[in-house]
Amino acid sequence: MIRFNIPPFTGKETEYIAQAIRNMKISGDGEFTKKCNTWIEEKTGTAAALLTTSCTHATEMAALLAGIKPGDEVIMPSYTFVSTADAFVLRGATAVFVDIRPDTMNIDETLIEDAITDKTKAIVPVHYAGVGCEMDTIMDIAKRHGLLVIEDAAQGIMSTYKGKALGAIGDYGCFSFHETKNYSMGEGGALLIKDPANKERAEIIREKGTNRSKFFRGQIDKYTWVDAGSSYLPSDMNAAYLWAQLEKADEINDDRMASWNLYYEMLSPLKEAGRIELPTVPEHCTHNAHMFYVKAKDLEERSALIRSLKAKDLSAVFHYIPLHGAPAGQRYGRFHGEDRYTTKESDRLVRLPMYYGLEPENVEKICDAVKEFYK
Ligand SMILES: *Cc1c(COP(=O)(O)O)cnc(C)c1O
Repeated sequence: MIRFNIPPFTGKETEYIAQAIRNMKISGDGEFTKKCNTWIEEKTGTAAALLTTSCTHATEMAALLAGIKPGDEVIMPSYTFVSTADAFVLRGATAVFVDIRPDTMNIDETLIEDAITDKTKAIVPVHYAGVGCEMDTIMDIAKRHGLLVIEDAAQGIMSTYKGKALGAIGDYGCFSFHETKNYSMGEGGALLIKDPANKERAEIIREKGTNRSKFFRGQIDKYTWVDAGSSYLPSDMNAAYLWAQLEKADEINDDRMASWNLYYEMLSPLKEAGRIELPTVPEHCTHNAHMFYVKAKDLEERSALIRSLKAKDLSAVFHYIPLHGAPAGQRYGRFHGEDRYTTKESDRLVRLPMYYGLEPENVEKICDAVKEFYK
């Protein structure tokens, strides 16, 4: 049986968790939390990075920092994970969905401007499969209309758009370290903050609305409740698990890229024969091999392909069901414009196994099974 995902493990995790315990700092903001924050800041060039309990929570923090309130509208794709919308819907906003581009499965940047109203506050691009959205266009639209850009870069760590790290381009960026992502801490994430002036308020929101972070740095002699906030600070034990992977970030990335490139090479004949489609990575983007997917002709062919792989003990899975058709999507959102690609393209997409340590023989086995299906 080839599993779809195996959580990343490099070997040092248990030692670092033991170290966090010996430090007698198992709550947040200990040695490992700080190491991870600094690593993200140095790697992405963002002004400030704060580890959080999830990417969902990082996005909730961004929504709070952005001052999203009831009646506001936030533009995003419908082809995304629920958290992208949830974080804003929790603040009373309406999710305004626009169509995706069929090549990258990312929000179609040419449709965003038409969805803007007096109520629009933010644009939330989602970098699907770790491939960047058209950020130059999106940042330009935001600037002209006075909107914030909050990047859902849950899948985008280590990827770039025109040389800039995904997550560090918009006003805020959100990473995920869930066990299904390239780097993990079980459950966790990070908030990237572009303007250093917003860091202090972010720390306050993350620490239940208190200025405890400032207190621990010795900048004030007692801490108090200064704002509305919540509990978004992860345990240092989780950060210790993550640190073992960030230390080996390039090794993990190279390993995943090797699997991705092998899939692409082996499945290219099927693409050239017009039987399937393979992912597109624009020339000005580098990606992180978060995901390898193929597109079948339609829903029916996709289901048959998944079944045939399953019969050979190979896992392959479909992905997002567009949010605008879901019960909560209908209640809290609306689709602006025509759904030309969101439903059609999501119906055709199949994800193949991808994880750190996936053996080349197994990639070959999966590709052979896909080829066999199309024979
Ligand atoms: C994984 C993911 C999330 C949620 O991440 P959590 O860390 O589990 O909260 C949000 N958006 C996208 C696009 C994701 O892939």
